[in-house]
Amino acid sequence: MSSAPAISIASLLDEAVRKLAASSDSPRLDAEVLLAHALGQPRSFLRAWPEKAPSAKYAQAFADLVARRAAGAPVAYLTGEREFFSLPLAVNPSVLIPRPETELLVELALERIALDADLQILDAGTGSGAIALAIARERPRCRVVASDVSFAALTIAKWNAGRLGLGDVAFVAGDWLAPFPARSFNLIVSNPPYVPDADPHLEQGDVRAEPRMALAAGTDGLDAIRIIARQAARCLRPGGSLILEHGHDQGEAVADILQRSGFRKLQAARDLGGQARAACGQM
Ligand code: GLN
Repeated sequence: MSSAPAISIASLLDEAVRKLAASSDSPRLDAEVLLAHALGQPRSFLRAWPEKAPSAKYAQAFADLVARRAAGAPVAYLTGEREFFSLPLAVNPSVLIPRPETELLVELALERIALDADLQILDAGTGSGAIALAIARERPRCRVVASDVSFAALTIAKWNAGRLGLGDVAFVAGDWLAPFPARSFNLIVSNPPYVPDADPHLEQGDVRAEPRMALAAGTDGLDAIRIIARQAARCLRPGGSLILEHGHDQGEAVADILQRSGFRKLQAARDLGGQARAACGQM
């Protein structure tokens, strides 16, 4: 049996870009990330060796990844990894893919924690562990707890903690803040689901492959935020803060929920694109 002629990296990429053009907003980037992943090399390798022809085994692995991407699988689920706050995080379809805009929550949290502080901090609904692990990395003296209702998510989050050498982070299974006693934390951070159930955005692009429970929260998208605000008012120590991500058009509604739950010194924060993104309040 004669094998097919080997194809160069440059040609493999061009062919993949054509296959991904209809389904992806970033076909060239996707193709490069997937080929680098299939080859077990950094992307710079592709630029350095465009004429090299990977063996059939690698070409087939790449073709399979491109086919799955064309069918709608997010690149991060195909490579099993996404970077957040400079941390490489393992991800799979049981967790939301960490978003760059969520780094704002980490920055807002770090602004409130002195470098040498030893505070009790909770990341509620941690998913891959992104927020908890970024804070734990930056504030090693703090006691960071990460909760999630999904055991599959906690498994990934724990794996990430171990891999990053952040073994002091504690993981707790439970519904938002239900497992925790009153006045347990100085700071509570959460990127909860906040998309309205009927939002057409849920039927487009990569979010279709993500866990719905991490994205959608009721008719107005605010069901989880209402629960968290109420529970946080109980679980925070006096003077403690809650920091929540929300949708760009939910700023006023979230401020209202926080106020009704007893929070004061409300603050709104925008992401780099100028969108209202996060709300902070103090007990
Ligand atoms: N911002 C995300 C999206 O647009 C939603 C993330 C979330 O619900 N926490 O898909």
